[in-house]
Amino acid sequence: MNTQSNPLHIIFFPFMGHGHMIPTIAMAKLFASKGIKATIVTTPLNKPMISNAIEQSKIHSNNNIDIQTIKFPCVEGGLPEGCENVDAIPSPQLVPTFFTATKLLQKPFEELLLQQKPHCIIADMFFPWATDSAAKFGIPRIVFHGISFFSLCAGQCMKQYEPHKNVSSDTELFEIPNLPGNIKLTRLQLPSIFTKDDSITKNIAKLFAEIRESEVKSYGVIVNSFYELESVYADYYREVLGTKEWHIGPISIHNRIKEEELTSYRGNETSIDKHYCLKWLDTKKINSVVYLCFGSTTSFLNSQLKEIAMGLEASGHNFIWVVKKKYEDEEKCKLESFEKRMKGKGLIIRGWSPQRLILEHKAIGAFVTHCGWNSTIEAVTVGVPMITWPVGAEQFYNEKLVTDVLKIGVPVGVKKWVGVVGDSVQWSAVEKAVKRVMEGEEAEKIRKKSKVLSQMANKAVEEGGSSSSQLNAFIEEMGLVCNHTNVSHKNNLHV
Ligand code: UDP
Repeated sequence: MNTQSNPLHIIFFPFMGHGHMIPTIAMAKLFASKGIKATIVTTPLNKPMISNAIEQSKIHSNNNIDIQTIKFPCVEGGLPEGCENVDAIPSPQLVPTFFTATKLLQKPFEELLLQQKPHCIIADMFFPWATDSAAKFGIPRIVFHGISFFSLCAGQCMKQYEPHKNVSSDTELFEIPNLPGNIKLTRLQLPSIFTKDDSITKNIAKLFAEIRESEVKSYGVIVNSFYELESVYADYYREVLGTKEWHIGPISIHNRIKEEELTSYRGNETSIDKHYCLKWLDTKKINSVVYLCFGSTTSFLNSQLKEIAMGLEASGHNFIWVVKKKYEDEEKCKLESFEKRMKGKGLIIRGWSPQRLILEHKAIGAFVTHCGWNSTIEAVTVGVPMITWPVGAEQFYNEKLVTDVLKIGVPVGVKKWVGVVGDSVQWSAVEKAVKRVMEGEEAEKIRKKSKVLSQMANKAVEEGGSSSSQLNAFIEEMGLVCNHTNVSHKNNLHV
């Protein structure tokens, strides 16, 4: 297959948002641990975050990972100077602009391909044009969606059958046709591309159509999931939707070195001392703390923060609550006095938390999550039951997977897809959901089920496990393809 003198060289190109960069960096490390030369492509302002994440890995594992940067002309794309990451978008209105501006990366990306001569590209779903870029160089483009099989299938069935057009109100339930599991949703819970018709939404809908088209034209898809978790949907994706896929997840637990995480970035620099946080958890009983975090981009209005605080207090349980308030400049929330009152019982992290270290601590009994796929699979991996609180993107689909299919969580009861800024859940619903997952027989059942899936997740990445075998199969296939593409490389690179 690959010889040491000419290792397979894969370019990894993550979308510039933490939820996409974190699993892609983990994937690059994973491939590098298999002797592959991995190059991560990003923009200059995202580079330090990646360097920090891979430096520790180089020390611990002697990995062969390089970083290359290309310029992101954000001003040309209608964004403020320096807006190179979803995290840096100054207002929710500019989120669609950010997505469309990334098309400007195509030219510098192709210049880089010319110089780097990789054998294969694993590029994020949000770069549909990368399939054409790869074709120009005669090399395979693999799509990395970063979401579940379940969501990939649900989204595709929704587009194909449009069941939301057959209901008479936004709150009437409809079933997603042909999707196994009798999954029911309302129109209110759908992403805006299904329910709105303004010019911004049309642009986003166009991007999603391009994404699907590029997926069909690409060599295949890598999925951060494991077969045992969603086998019915993995089969559906491959056999009914006809997509060539490799499921290699949970990506972040292959060869995991905990010490590495204690000393390096995972997404951002944490806003709390990791050791302090873990020591605080050490003082708590097993399964006694509720962890609340809503991913890297979701934010809440002050009114919603107040409801969460009241719900937590009423539940009587310990908690760690990650609060991000990105977009609002209005009056400061009264979090300080709440925190004082809750001293010893609750910890508030303002900004970035060491999520994985927290989730895997034995004191954590439940995770209130927005159902981003990384957070969801991280909870599955460590067997922590969830309280689902979807806000935007494909998160309502993931909620269904967690609560209705896998039965490892309960919904807090969100009725409406809002995009990025949430405000709709009352304190009594928070209290009720926390108690439901932390106390009594139902909670015990959910916890047992979660632990079983956690064991399966860990087995999947062991030698001979489903994800480990898929990873080896992918590498082998790319090795064979790369022997052929060397020829086309020569032909194309000099055109
Ligand atoms: N994350 C973290 N600390 C935080 C917030 C998020 O470490 O304070 C990590 C989390 O562990 C996950 C990723 O950021 O790996 C968020 O990805 P996800 O798909 O859950 O949500 P997104 O941010 O894409 O909405």
